[in-house]
Amino acid sequence: MEKKLSAGEEVSSYCTRCKLDLGHIIIAMVGQKIVKVQCRTCGSIHSYRNRETTKRTPGNGDRRSGAARKALEPVRTTIDKWEAGMAQAKGRELSYDMGQSFQEGDVIAHPLFGKGIVLRTHYRKCDVLFRDKERTLAAANT
Ligand SMILES: [Zn+2]
Repeated sequence: MEKKLSAGEEVSSYCTRCKLDLGHIIIAMVGQKIVKVQCRTCGSIHSYRNRETTKRTPGNGDRRSGAARKALEPVRTTIDKWEAGMAQAKGRELSYDMGQSFQEGDVIAHPLFGKGIVLRTHYRKCDVLFRDKERTLAAANT
């Protein structure tokens, strides 16, 4: 028996930003087809991709799996950097607030992106390494 889906419900889809299969909220549908979804992890809105279309078939030619591996590499590097950064972070642990100034080494808990380490600070902003990628956040730094 198939479950009827509608906008506002949660489905599992491949997130183009997080590069993972994650829970998404259905934004738009055409008939019974899901067209647009919003990632619950990073908040990005993109077209729906189900597992079948993104699943890699092993042993399907070396060139193909090589390309797939290459595409996954930057993410792995970011996760490794993030894990190392989290292990070494000696700063304060703070909830993200754009009215707050941050220092290098601080750990920011962001409601949408999770925990991140402050890498650099600039006037009114700071660069923060999150598990999926580096982002520049507004801050009260002077
Ligand atoms: Zn995402």
